[in-house]
Amino acid sequence: SPPRAGEDIRTTCAYCGVGCGIIATPTGERSVTIKGDPDHPANTGKLCSKGTHLGETIGLEGRLLTPMIGQRRASWDKALDLLAKRFRDTIAQHGPNSVAFYVSGQLLTEDYYVANKLMKGFIGSANIDTNSRLCMASAVAGHMRAFGEDVVPASYDDLDAADLIVLVGSNTAWCHPIAYQRIRARCDAGAKLVVIDPRRTETADEADLHLAIRPGTDVALMNGLLAWCRDAGVVDHDYLAAHVATPDAFWDQLGEGSDLWSVARICDVPPQDLRRFYELFAATPKTVTMFSQGVNQSLSGTDQVNAITNLHLATGRIGKPGAAPFSITGQPNAMGGREVGGLASSLAAHMDFAPENVARVGRFWAAPTMATKPGLKAVDLFRELGNGRIKALWVMATNPAVSMPDAGRVREALAACPFVVVSDVIETTDTSVHAHVRLPAAAWGEKDGTVTNSDRTISRQRAFMVPPGEAKPDWWIVTQVARRMGWKTAFSYDRPAEIWREHCRLSAYENDGARLFTLPGHAAKGNAEYDAMTPFRWGGTPFADGRFSTPDGRARLVPVVQKPVAAPLAKWPMTLNTGRYRDQWHTMTRTGLSPKLARHREEPLVEVHPDDAERLGIVDGGLTRVTTPQGDSLFRASVVTAQRVGELFVPIHWTDRTATGGRTGLLPRPLADPISGQPGFKSTPVRIEPV
Ligand code: SF4
Repeated sequence: SPPRAGEDIRTTCAYCGVGCGIIATPTGERSVTIKGDPDHPANTGKLCSKGTHLGETIGLEGRLLTPMIGQRRASWDKALDLLAKRFRDTIAQHGPNSVAFYVSGQLLTEDYYVANKLMKGFIGSANIDTNSRLCMASAVAGHMRAFGEDVVPASYDDLDAADLIVLVGSNTAWCHPIAYQRIRARCDAGAKLVVIDPRRTETADEADLHLAIRPGTDVALMNGLLAWCRDAGVVDHDYLAAHVATPDAFWDQLGEGSDLWSVARICDVPPQDLRRFYELFAATPKTVTMFSQGVNQSLSGTDQVNAITNLHLATGRIGKPGAAPFSITGQPNAMGGREVGGLASSLAAHMDFAPENVARVGRFWAAPTMATKPGLKAVDLFRELGNGRIKALWVMATNPAVSMPDAGRVREALAACPFVVVSDVIETTDTSVHAHVRLPAAAWGEKDGTVTNSDRTISRQRAFMVPPGEAKPDWWIVTQVARRMGWKTAFSYDRPAEIWREHCRLSAYENDGARLFTLPGHAAKGNAEYDAMTPFRWGGTPFADGRFSTPDGRARLVPVVQKPVAAPLAKWPMTLNTGRYRDQWHTMTRTGLSPKLARHREEPLVEVHPDDAERLGIVDGGLTRVTTPQGDSLFRASVVTAQRVGELFVPIHWTDRTATGGRTGLLPRPLADPISGQPGFKSTPVRIEPV
């Protein structure tokens, strides 16, 4: 039954990976008051501006309320029958790898689970990838290489215990504000904060030390620090001997280019600042190194992650309070997606595509056609869509026509695809204009399920409104399609609690402890307990016993080498960086509805250093054209010393539908880290000129 007006509903924020708890109190059919949940461990009652204004974004403006085939309304039966038939026919004619799903960290874990099960166990392809590929795939790949499992070995509690917090490639004050408040509180109590970021962001402004490194030189910085720790006698040889496999010649490869002066030159930072950082790190056992998109969205993102994990393993700073590498995710449920295998490169319950895992998951699901190898990662998926090899695509809760790199090509690929389905909350997005079928999805506040935040805390998201029109939860939509494709029994769920229990059972299935991710106790809990679930963190303090998820139980030091930084090109002499604004979220389909949030930044600006502005005749507030080999767009200039000379920064949020310029997605190259497949958004060759 729908909640009554005045009833307090405990749920979680719809936005970032901090995963703040919210108390939503309906005040009418589509109005609600929002406050922070004092009992939620992620935020203890606090909310940032985005969370606070969630209540302004639940109106029906722009909502998709009925299924649509082309531009005509259709019944659910007709739309689902058509979807199932077109996918079945395409698979019959061209094989299972001719179809794909592209899903989202906005989905709840139960939605993600059934989509992954349908594609990998029943259609028989692993062509399901997620916009989380754009967010943290390099962290996943780095964890797999170092720990043998994609486990974040840190929690927000570690921030409260750390004496040094190093933020790498993260404007935490804007992008994860409540985690940042916790960092500030710890710094007020005496901890030091070091920020490593090419830009002098609001976070960097408040740091004890800011290293504005040359983009893409993180490996040199971290390898230099590791060499410094070795020379300072800080490497924990006992820990390494007991718990870590160290490849031959690992230490030798650190030699050349890892001295202070060489690193300072490669990273383009003052040697005295670098020395200060190295001395601080070496002297502070309780160090948390938090990293985000500046690391992950790099063409060598996985190596950068492992340069960080190497440091923590070599100094024994892992599995202890206040000491860990900490990947923070962008989206509310990127971690839940990882747990159910929402990435094309993973299977389910933290398993990969090793033959024994394929067989195990196949047994559990009683799957007729298991995928046996990884599928297409996002950049490759849309390239294959453009090449005509993907002939039917289902996009769920995301807007790749804006958010993918080289978004112009993605639009062309969507337009040329014989059959595109978009299930979304929003009626018209830059992606859904290319859809043959649009399905109305239930939104935040209208559906039930679970999410996992950056520190492995699983929380319930709860409905406090009735879905409008004919909108339905994503798990229901996927299940209906699966049944129509012929798999009635395997997808006979009536409620998300049933999917949750199956997910929990799979996590524990034939798991003798080899995988840390397991939720066995929850598999036996009934619907009432699911409804009443309070937030809990799985995995305790990962690796506290020094045992990792590799076959021999030992972590791995991974040799990583700084790649040469490309010299500027004559035609594209500058470097383009992209990122978020404080009060907007992704492509603004939700935050764009709040007038209060729009006040922070009313339009997209290109940030440019005064020296570059003077040289190019750009004035503060003047219009400019930003051009890359992929495309161009107009931006108003913001001339700021926070930028490094030769580098530009633009926000990711604006789209064709929200502005005449600021189309950032058109600009980045469709290139990705070769290991993780995560696109390198942070360093696109570019030029800028006044208009
Ligand atoms: Fe929501 Fe993130 Fe803000 Fe918390 S910090 S209120 S999860 S946007």
